Amino acid sequence: MAEDANPFESLQSQIDEAATHIDVADDVIERLKYPERVLETNLTVELDDGTLERFKAFRSQFNGDRGPYKGGIRYHPQVSRDEVKALSGWMTYKTAIVDIPLGGGKGGIVIDPDNYSESELERVTRTFATELRPLIGEDRDVPAPDVNTGQREMNWIKDTYETLENTTEPGVITGKNLASGGSEGRVEATGRSTVLAAREAFDYLDKDLEGATVAVQGYGNAGWIAAKLIDEMGATVVAASDSSGGIYNPDGFDPVAAKDHKNETGSIVGYEESEEEITNEDVLTMDVDLLIPAALENAIDADLAEAVEADVISEAANGPLTPAADEVLEGKDVFVIPDILANAGGVTVSYFEWVQNRDRFYWSEEKVNEELEGHIVNAFDALVETYEEHNLDNPRTAAYVVAIQRVANSFEESGSWP
Ligand code: NAD
Repeated sequence: MAEDANPFESLQSQIDEAATHIDVADDVIERLKYPERVLETNLTVELDDGTLERFKAFRSQFNGDRGPYKGGIRYHPQVSRDEVKALSGWMTYKTAIVDIPLGGGKGGIVIDPDNYSESELERVTRTFATELRPLIGEDRDVPAPDVNTGQREMNWIKDTYETLENTTEPGVITGKNLASGGSEGRVEATGRSTVLAAREAFDYLDKDLEGATVAVQGYGNAGWIAAKLIDEMGATVVAASDSSGGIYNPDGFDPVAAKDHKNETGSIVGYEESEEEITNEDVLTMDVDLLIPAALENAIDADLAEAVEADVISEAANGPLTPAADEVLEGKDVFVIPDILANAGGVTVSYFEWVQNRDRFYWSEEKVNEELEGHIVNAFDALVETYEEHNLDNPRTAAYVVAIQRVANSFEESGSWP
């Protein structure tokens, strides 16, 4: 893993860079660089052996100018106040670039879930949901899954909230399973937007996706779905990695069979179609047409960026490039589709889930995928229009210019409040 950039400082430098290209007053930009509020709480939870343990937890509500705060809840030992603040800011600009009527938020608990039983995790989650209760609601703040949380945790939060509020309000949280009011297509949505954005970028750059070579770093939910879908579009997945290492076959391999191998053994390493075992760094620096980083933040720093040979990068992960890496890649003319657009499929289908929950009327998977494609294509078109109009060096800056302008417009149109 590369050097750690402070994610909140990365977010702020991205906003500063974009702000030089837009006509928004400095004092408004200042507002758009900080969260509106951050809850910091300590959860005291009884473990199975009867002892008590304290867990630090956060919820950052970054910006609600365009709608209810929206963003996931992460369970990880490295969760920090600054990480949660940064992730909530990225959510604000992500919902804006794909133009859905939501703001940005993010939460997290400092915990390694592997060290706790299911009943302990349920008590931790329900205690956090009780703390969140006054802050959340389908018109206030709508959490979702993130790293190490999924449908199970979302169902617990929904149940805690509905029980305490004595109501049925499935739209208080998204990423639920279908039986609890989830949406078709949600599980695949992030990988799907990553490849739809890549398809649009190849088209824009006049590159052929058919037969293009692809490397995928991280073979979890976002990464493996992206590998499967890009393979279905005619590209060839030649390399992939997870936290145990990487696999490589110059002729390509079957992404679904590689995932089956990971399900059986816990890792893609050792998959029989692999011709060579490679490192995670090899995957990131491979000479491919498309690189999909789909693990964690700061995967590529400036040093590693010098060695990157991909032509296009579609960021499935949040913040996989440090700002210094971004600069290096800009100098090498690598076309980077920024995370706030490439991985926005998750939040876009979360929005569809919220709409369906409020309507009490559910869509087919085909309708979900069709609507998602429309949002991603429109967002990419808006990015390119701004990229060309402002003669920008970097598609990420173009995405922030579009998104910040939308949030600023919404703020300024609301007038001022004493
Ligand atoms: P996940 O936990 O399902 O998968 C993460 C994968 O990364 C695992 O295969 C893990 O082994 C691998 N990994 C971890 N460290 C690694 C390393 N150093 N080198 C190589 N591989 C490594 O998580 P996910 O849901 O797929 O999320 C991945 C990224 O995508 C995160 O940045 C997340 O914030 C982002 N994201 C996910 C969604 C979503 O809906 N799942 C939405 C938006 C953004």
